[in-house]
Amino acid sequence: MAALTSIDLAPFFAAHHRELADALAATASTLEAEAHGQPDGGGAGAERDPARLARSLGERHGLYRHLVPRAGEALDVRALVLVREALGYADPLADALFAVQGLGSYPIVIAGSTAQKEAYLPDVVSGARIAAFALTEPEAGSDVSAISTHARADGGDWVLDGEKIFISNVPIAHHYVVFARAEGATDPKKNLSAFLVEQDTPGLELESQPLSIDHPIGKLTFRGARVPGSALLGRVGDGMRIALATLEAFRVTVGAAANGMANAALHDALRHVSARRQFGKLLSEQQLVQGYLADMATELDASRLLVLRAAWLKDTSGGRTPSEVAMAKMYATEAAQRTIDRAVQLLGGRGVLRGTRVEALYREVRPLRIYEGTTEIQKLIIARALLAERA
Ligand SMILES: Cc1cc2nc3c(=O)[nH]c(=O)nc-3n(C[C@H](O)[C@H](O)[C@H](O)COP(=O)(O)OP(=O)(O)OC[C@H]3O[C@@H](n4cnc5c(N)ncnc54)[C@H](O)[C@@H]3O)c2cc1C
Repeated sequence: MAALTSIDLAPFFAAHHRELADALAATASTLEAEAHGQPDGGGAGAERDPARLARSLGERHGLYRHLVPRAGEALDVRALVLVREALGYADPLADALFAVQGLGSYPIVIAGSTAQKEAYLPDVVSGARIAAFALTEPEAGSDVSAISTHARADGGDWVLDGEKIFISNVPIAHHYVVFARAEGATDPKKNLSAFLVEQDTPGLELESQPLSIDHPIGKLTFRGARVPGSALLGRVGDGMRIALATLEAFRVTVGAAANGMANAALHDALRHVSARRQFGKLLSEQQLVQGYLADMATELDASRLLVLRAAWLKDTSGGRTPSEVAMAKMYATEAAQRTIDRAVQLLGGRGVLRGTRVEALYREVRPLRIYEGTTEIQKLIIARALLAERA
């Protein structure tokens, strides 16, 4: 039967991961109870306050320390996988907030000056500062090279103009890592740069975009938004490298979140079919239902194996692993969608009732196939790597 967490795939882990998994089990059950009103799901939770939840993931649960490695250490991707599978299972909103805190702080980890690291990272870890990552634009989604937000040097400052959309953590973030075309790059093809922009910067407007799920997300409009020269991350022209390195570090963890959500759906489906009787016997005694359960468990374990292979490779090989990461992200998110859909089907009418966990998961899992590189973009990455091997 499917394990409760990936830690049961022990060969991929070091000893400290086991301790983390034990600690996460307690955190996850607290978050799950708060999100759903009762530990085993069901029941619509009270209206959520994402800003408070985001802060508590650092302040109360200490989870953001996994996003900011100690000096001289690398990101522990397998730890992130464990955290995101646990959060995906317990509370997908908490998972999204955790992930975006990473996307909005890892650029500082890899490219920040000592002063930037000291000013930002301790508060990121404590949860006092909520971060965000602003790459996507109306005309630049999958094609990041089409970014048109512009940064002009002016008297030691930078002045930003342009628009970003679908930026998670609008409006709760304290800062945005903004990718813009900056003047001054020696190679015009590499003139994307990254800037740390405070949420209260004059000339920056925030606007929420309502989603099918209740997550904070929105637009940023820059109209002559002036930031100091010290807001530049790395050097002019480093933006594409910073953006891609950040996405590559976190992409595999999207698959882990999907696995957590799929496992929650499988859990609720098993519980339901073991109690619900039709045609004089339990649903779990119907062979067609058993076939569904077998498919769900098999796809979940296959997803976990792909995610853990990619995370283990990232942690241990030190090199880039784009193809393995893409396979894991693509397969796990697509499989989770199928598993959650089957859980909805097994719950029948109850599966589409508001307040039922599988109904919420059906909506929660959908964006995972789109953000941090759509399924189609992952296919391109995998195919290009295959073809390059033959060249
Ligand atoms: C919930 C959510 C949270 C997000 N959070 C953030 C965030 O915090 N920061 C941020 O910067 N962005 C964020 N995004 C944006 C996200 O990264 C983009 O939506 C994603 O990159 C796709 O871009 P797009 O929506 O413009 O779709 P498009 O790029 O227009 O794609 C539309 C469709 O065409 C397909 N397609 C595109 N190019 C090709 C191709 N060459 N071959 C085959 N098919 C192709 C795509 O796969 C997709 O199916 C978020 C999105 C969502 C839904």
